[in-house]
Amino acid sequence: MATIAIDPRVSSGTADFVASSHKMFIDGRFVAAASGKTFPVYNPATGEVLTHVPEAESEDVNRAVAAARRAFDEGPWPRMSASERGRILWRVSELLEKHNDEFAELESLDNGKPFSVARIADVPLAADMFRYMAGWTTKITGRTFPISFPGDFHSYTLREPIGVVAQIIPWNFPLLMAAWKVAPALAAGCTVVLKLAEQTPLSGLRLAQLFDEAGMPPGALNVITGFGEGAGAPLAAHDDVDKIAFTGSTEVGKLIVKAATGNLKKVSLELGGKSPAIVFPDARIDHAIQGTASAIFFNHGQCCCAGSRLYIHEKIFDQVVEGVSHVAEDIKVAPGLDPSSQMGPLVSDEQYKKVVGYIESGLAEGAHIAAGGPVSGVERGYFVRPTVLTGTNPKMKVVQEEIFGPVVCAVPFSDKELDAILKRANDSIYGLAASVWTDNLTIAHKVSRGLRAGTVWVNCHNVFDAALPFGGYKQSGWGREMGEEVLNNYLETKAVTIAL
Ligand code: NAP
Ligand code: MG
Repeated sequence: MATIAIDPRVSSGTADFVASSHKMFIDGRFVAAASGKTFPVYNPATGEVLTHVPEAESEDVNRAVAAARRAFDEGPWPRMSASERGRILWRVSELLEKHNDEFAELESLDNGKPFSVARIADVPLAADMFRYMAGWTTKITGRTFPISFPGDFHSYTLREPIGVVAQIIPWNFPLLMAAWKVAPALAAGCTVVLKLAEQTPLSGLRLAQLFDEAGMPPGALNVITGFGEGAGAPLAAHDDVDKIAFTGSTEVGKLIVKAATGNLKKVSLELGGKSPAIVFPDARIDHAIQGTASAIFFNHGQCCCAGSRLYIHEKIFDQVVEGVSHVAEDIKVAPGLDPSSQMGPLVSDEQYKKVVGYIESGLAEGAHIAAGGPVSGVERGYFVRPTVLTGTNPKMKVVQEEIFGPVVCAVPFSDKELDAILKRANDSIYGLAASVWTDNLTIAHKVSRGLRAGTVWVNCHNVFDAALPFGGYKQSGWGREMGEEVLNNYLETKAVTIAL
């Protein structure tokens, strides 16, 4: 069945896994879709089919939710000691570290990103998320309250797992997004049904095997592969699901909210962004050039927090645009498994067409190209060159909409007043992240306060840590991922009052 065209550079272990007959993980067993249907998984560096995975539909979603329901209502996971739950999550982090290079190869093959980046970023960050959340299992506590109601009472709160959690993730960081979702939900004692992105299911399926090896009780984590409409929609609408956590586009986020109304399941959302990077004239220019280039070009711009609107003070505008353009031109665009690759292909043909379409729309609306452009020059695969646009105006689609590709709009500002540049930076339906480039402490603090965004970086961008909450203001989402705060997504608070 499988039409395998695996890059000869991958290890034999990875090649064997990719070529194996892929199964979903439901109720502690590896199973095919009830219908027997599968769908192809592509290598974006070549456009060739890598392998096939099961296509879950409603019946599979029902099976997975029933398993998670049973595991929550009757199974050991929520009843296990906090320490034992933590130990299993810790084991998963160790297994991820042990198989670091294999996961990096899978991410590179499936998503297109450079192997060299995945092995120092995606996989270690995912392992760290499991380790960090393993630590939280023993620290989820309630409080006591000196209440003033007449009489003598002892009042306290319990923090309890919310129940069965459905999680739907995108393709930009396949393993890391799975870790951000699964680790805190399981740490809280919830049971989970995770739907992987159709474009990038391989690392999530391999992660399921690690959970099995780590001793996960049946049904506590279920991992399914399928399409948004066929598998994601019935999962989001399912009456036995207590909570849905979604990462992806704002458009689909709104569908998730609607689907959740049937049983009013709880919802958390991590959605799109159009993050500003603002360079002030006192910034260390070389540092700001490297940093703002990396803000947009890291992961090929396929980051929800990509610094895609680059506001540069007019005094240094030409210098910074020239510098960022040089960085862009110097980036080696090549298949992710090529050791020299600094930027691989975009994830899919669909994404490639979308990003090239945005560059063309910017040009049609009057923008100029300072670097890159719509033609990649690479013969096959979904490659786009890192692109810098100037001469845009705030109304253009390239300035307003999330491109999700390596395309930045550089815009000068001359304002002496901080308020004016803040107003422009905040002029977006999104509010996920922002970066500020300055050596002036007052500017750094004032702008950080004034930005309507869930994350502000000063003199850096794309710095993530399992301990730091991450999430959006405005239409960038509801709730936070990571840090202690993410636990709020997966816990209910119960107030207990005892008359003494
Ligand atoms: P998407 O369409 O929002 O997909 C995200 C996840 O939701 C995928 O697993 C998808 O399944 C699933 N899904 C799609 N329609 C659904 C529905 N009606 N009900 C339930 N689940 C559904 O995002 P995408 O297609 O991967 O990318 C489109 C755009 O989203 C990007 O260009 C970018 O702007 C944005 N995006 C944002 C982030 C982020 O981190 N904030 C990440 C990725 C993408 P399929 O796998 O079948 O699509
Ligand atoms: Mg999609």
